[in-house]
Amino acid sequence: MNQDTRKSNNSNFFSEALSSVERVRFDRQLRLPGWNQKALKDSTVLIVGVGGLGTEVAKNLAMAGVGVLHLIDLDIIEHSNLNRQILFYDAEEGEPKSKVAARTLRKINPHSRYIWHYSNLEDVDPEIYATADLYIAGLDSVTARNELIRRAVHFKKPMIDGGTATYYGHVYTYLPDENSCLQCDPQRERERETLAACTLVGVPRKRSHCLLKGQLFFESKHNRPPDTTVVDEVKIALDYANDLVKEHFPDSGLFTLDEAVKMIDQHDPTVISINAVIASIQTQESLKLLHHIKGIKLGTVNPEYLIYNGLVGKFFYIEKPPNKECHLCGSNAPIIETIELPDTSTLDMILPIIKNRGYTFDPELLPNFWLMDLKEMKEAQKGFTLKEQKIRNYETVYVTGLSKDNEEIDVYLRILLKSR
Ligand SMILES: [Zn+2]
Repeated sequence: MNQDTRKSNNSNFFSEALSSVERVRFDRQLRLPGWNQKALKDSTVLIVGVGGLGTEVAKNLAMAGVGVLHLIDLDIIEHSNLNRQILFYDAEEGEPKSKVAARTLRKINPHSRYIWHYSNLEDVDPEIYATADLYIAGLDSVTARNELIRRAVHFKKPMIDGGTATYYGHVYTYLPDENSCLQCDPQRERERETLAACTLVGVPRKRSHCLLKGQLFFESKHNRPPDTTVVDEVKIALDYANDLVKEHFPDSGLFTLDEAVKMIDQHDPTVISINAVIASIQTQESLKLLHHIKGIKLGTVNPEYLIYNGLVGKFFYIEKPPNKECHLCGSNAPIIETIELPDTSTLDMILPIIKNRGYTFDPELLPNFWLMDLKEMKEAQKGFTLKEQKIRNYETVYVTGLSKDNEEIDVYLRILLKSR
């Protein structure tokens, strides 16, 4: 690259990476100090969960001109999404969220690319995780967050997690090697009030158990939960519950219809304002990070866990230093070995390669290989080729039965396919 080209590429206003239409579209942000539009255009962001937060972040990043957005979601559109998810305004109920989001984003900013995945995050090609610049999480499931953070740790990618609950929200940016991952201090699976011990028979121990028993009563008659849009169905559960309340908790008030609906249909309550605040913070942190990743200094990314309390309009911050003991990102975490192979090789062919890297194994008890990235971890067969077992580029293979310095050790292999 000669000096002149470099110069013009560094200029926002004369960047050859931008068309004249793009230069006009982004004119106001090109004027921002420290801003580099080409850095954003060259970026790829993976958005996992295209719901309340995901749609909002996707809309923002598309409008800001991020070059490629991968949109991953297994859900379809429901009417109840429309109180906050603008990308679905003209969608049919039942259409995949990721597909509709991509379609709307193309109308919003046709200069970027939107790749939709109507799929769970495990089925998305590992190569996409390996090559994206950062991940955005707009997820409501702890399991999915855990799956995503494992990929973030292994591929050393920042992950900007967001969440909302009632009038509160949080944003946390995992920065590899700088702060803690989500496993350093694992979030417990939210305890549902539906306790295994709670059955129709037996005395309710808490007032809330009465409502659960009301629901179970309905289910025992109809083999399904009450439809919370049908008042008569909710009332059957409610009346049963309130009879129990009168008997066992005579000093406390009866349940209302609204309480019954919320208990039976446990969707997180949420409103667009909290979503918008949290998604905007996720977006702003993304924009800075994408500059950093492309080698351009633009502000600093907040490494702390941020909580927004929308009822009092305040932000709170919690420090999250790295935890050396963490089984995922700490010093006890499995080692990652990258191995490059043609897809016609079998897994046995890995054994001499690992041996060469100082690992030992009992020849009588050869190591076992497990495919980690699938929805259900699956044992890989040593005698079959990578291709036959559909082992993908960048696939993580967990190996058991290896030792190093006379100590048993867990190793993850990252498979790189030579044919690519
Ligand atoms: Zn950790």
